[in-house]
Amino acid sequence: MDLAFSPEEIAFRDEVRTFIATHYPAHLRGKQDEGEELSKEDMLSWHRVLARKGWVAPAWPKEYGGPGWTATQRYIFSEELARADTVPILPFGINMVGPVIYTFGTPEQKARFLPRILSGDDWWCQGYSEPGAGSDLASLRTRAERDGDFYIVNGQKTWTTLAQHADWGFFLVRTDPAAKPQEGISFLLIDMKSPGVTVRPIITLGGEHEVNEVWLENVRVPVENRIYEENKGWTCAKFLLAHERTGIAGVARSKRGIERLKGIARTELDDGGQPLLHNPFFRRKIADLECDLTALEFTELRTLAGEAAGRGPGPESSLLKIKGTEIQQRITELVLEAVGHYGAPYFRAFPEGSNAYPIGPDYAHRAAPTYFNMRKTSIYGGSNEIQRNIIAKMVLGL
Ligand SMILES: Cc1cc2nc3c(=O)[nH]c(=O)nc-3n(C[C@H](O)[C@H](O)[C@H](O)COP(=O)(O)OP(=O)(O)OC[C@H]3O[C@@H](n4cnc5c(N)ncnc54)[C@H](O)[C@@H]3O)c2cc1C
Repeated sequence: MDLAFSPEEIAFRDEVRTFIATHYPAHLRGKQDEGEELSKEDMLSWHRVLARKGWVAPAWPKEYGGPGWTATQRYIFSEELARADTVPILPFGINMVGPVIYTFGTPEQKARFLPRILSGDDWWCQGYSEPGAGSDLASLRTRAERDGDFYIVNGQKTWTTLAQHADWGFFLVRTDPAAKPQEGISFLLIDMKSPGVTVRPIITLGGEHEVNEVWLENVRVPVENRIYEENKGWTCAKFLLAHERTGIAGVARSKRGIERLKGIARTELDDGGQPLLHNPFFRRKIADLECDLTALEFTELRTLAGEAAGRGPGPESSLLKIKGTEIQQRITELVLEAVGHYGAPYFRAFPEGSNAYPIGPDYAHRAAPTYFNMRKTSIYGGSNEIQRNIIAKMVLGL
């Protein structure tokens, strides 16, 4: 990849920048500045703006509704989104199930599901993990038994992100209990309004309702909702996880996070009364973080260049996941350190509509809830310990 942008690429960057500046919903900016929780409609409003422009799925092939951008354009686009601090586009439809459907689905499945993923009409959730099956995903026990043209599904999923809003879920289910663990699994699309589906909230450490338990009791799922062959769902599952891990690196957003951190460190003072940014110990922590982020950025660019040359994300996506999430966590740690005692009253996020009177500077309000919330990043998408196992095996050959 040539890292010096061409005049066309600079023009593209300016076009994206202007579009965001003129089309980003004003009410979202206000809520973000106030640190308010975003509703389903809030999260979808930016998705819909990008969908109308044809920019919501940068990595999709053009024939399915992608913009047909090069890897460099995709990189510029994500940089600009992060620079403007837009709400992230939810990954479950666009980055996860969409690519599975256009890679493994039938023409009917593509026609039925892809346009609604693009438009935001269907909100998707991911039903992989179970109480006894997280890292060891292949030990999942949710059963799907064939009954004519239907599967009857029974089991429990957990940690299902934002399932409270979901119209559809993509689920891994066991269709052949006698086969070896990875060989008896199928990939099913389930309408979350089906009788027998129950979503129960799990409230996280930062006070947010972000994850759920999903119970499936005698849920009837048409066989036509199965992607790819019966008992071959592991192929789709692995394909999807590799895509999930590339997105997780979050380089552009971390850059923005470091800029924010520097802004706070310019204002907050150390014990000697000088800005934290001039304190050699704090300054060094920020510098270490920036060095690591620059190294990660080049690794991500190499991965993107590989993808542009037709090589899908391989084991290097594990590296991106580990380093990307560690950096995200370190940023929130330093923000909390910088705001000091002003972070303490906000152990939990303000609920929507709260009229509590804030104490301290605005940037302190979300420091603690965000710090707690970001502990999740080294667990989800395959824990960082599991990613290290993958690197040991696939990259180092141990
Ligand atoms: C906020 C959040 C959102 C999530 N969203 C979703 C979602 O939308 N859909 C979904 O399906 N899942 C979701 N998950 C689940 C996530 O994928 C799992 O939590 C993750 O895979 C780890 O599984 P587990 O929680 O069962 O932990 P376990 O697998 O029980 O692991 C416990 C600990 O042991 C370590 N460990 C386990 N096996 C090994 C090993 N072989 N070698 C070394 N260390 C090991 C792990 O790293 C971890 O530290 C989410 C999780 C979180 C925290």
